[in-house]
Amino acid sequence: MKPFFAFQWHITDACDQRCKHCYIFSEGQHAIDSMSWEDMMVTLAQIEDFCHIYGRRPYIYLTGGDPILHPDFWRLLDLFNQKSIPFTIMGNPFHLTPEVCAALKERGCQKYQMSIDGLEKTHDWFRKPGSFRETLQKIDMINNAGIRSVIMTTVSGVNIKEIPGIIDAVAQADVNVYAFSRYCPTSEEKADPSNANYMTPEAYRDLLSVCDAKFKAYEKAGCQTYFNKKDHLWTLYDYETGAFSIPEQARPDVIYGGCHCGDSHLTILPNGDIYACRRVQNSRVGSVYSDRMADVWVSQMDNYRHFDRFQKCAKCELKAWCRGCPAVASGARGDFYDADPQCWKIVEDD
Ligand code: SF4
Ligand code: SF4
Repeated sequence: MKPFFAFQWHITDACDQRCKHCYIFSEGQHAIDSMSWEDMMVTLAQIEDFCHIYGRRPYIYLTGGDPILHPDFWRLLDLFNQKSIPFTIMGNPFHLTPEVCAALKERGCQKYQMSIDGLEKTHDWFRKPGSFRETLQKIDMINNAGIRSVIMTTVSGVNIKEIPGIIDAVAQADVNVYAFSRYCPTSEEKADPSNANYMTPEAYRDLLSVCDAKFKAYEKAGCQTYFNKKDHLWTLYDYETGAFSIPEQARPDVIYGGCHCGDSHLTILPNGDIYACRRVQNSRVGSVYSDRMADVWVSQMDNYRHFDRFQKCAKCELKAWCRGCPAVASGARGDFYDADPQCWKIVEDD
């Protein structure tokens, strides 16, 4: 079986939330973009061409905005179904009903991902009143339709203390998968300790320690939630605690894991822009309307594969498995290859 290649495809910016930290609106943007049906067909042809050239199978993370608001949402899903393209929807809870969930399942939807960004008061402040309860209430509906429910949190200095409570809430709601990633500072904020979003490396490590204990306790109690250690700094944490060790056969010139940028994913925006990663600011590498995506992968995308240019990671024994999150480094310090601001490891010559 050919390996999967992940495309995060934003078909519209339309959304009935206006989250305070949403990257769509964070950098002084903009009018709502949305792809026409013809543009979607161009994009899908590019995806299929890319996968044909590189011997991969497409996996689509369909998102927006809220993708369900796009007028051709169901038509596109019918096409995925016809072509047996597996997909996950990253959206909001507001338009989900048992009928909508059944229709998603019928078309092959594997996972439905939503966000929880704090306990009720904080989450509803970030998003909109009622959003926290509605998100958790929709979990059963998604599970009952046979779709895997996924909750993601964006952690920052604003909500870091609420993450343990969120873990309790998602476990209680029978969420299938829970994970968190870190907030990427905007170009104005950078890594400014006076900003409310800022987190020290020590505070973040403490959070991982608390979460690790909670994950283990829930797993032991037979909780059905899978706690996905998505942030690559988990590798550092697990390395220190002995849960991860460097394989004896590992070769020094091979990248085994860590950040997928330049390895196994691309993002496409509603205006056709191709991004190395949606979370990395200014990572536009081309356009599905004017560039062949398969060519972009071996030209512009090479700028994201200079592993020896990582200022700190290049000297770290975990380079092949971690590299933190360069999107956070790039937001905080303006350089994809700069040190991850929450990495607490002391690396020689750092
Ligand atoms: S230096 Fe880089 S590779 Fe090493 S632990 Fe920190 S983020 Fe990970
Ligand atoms: S830059 Fe960060 S968000 Fe983007 S693929 Fe790498 S680790 Fe993931």
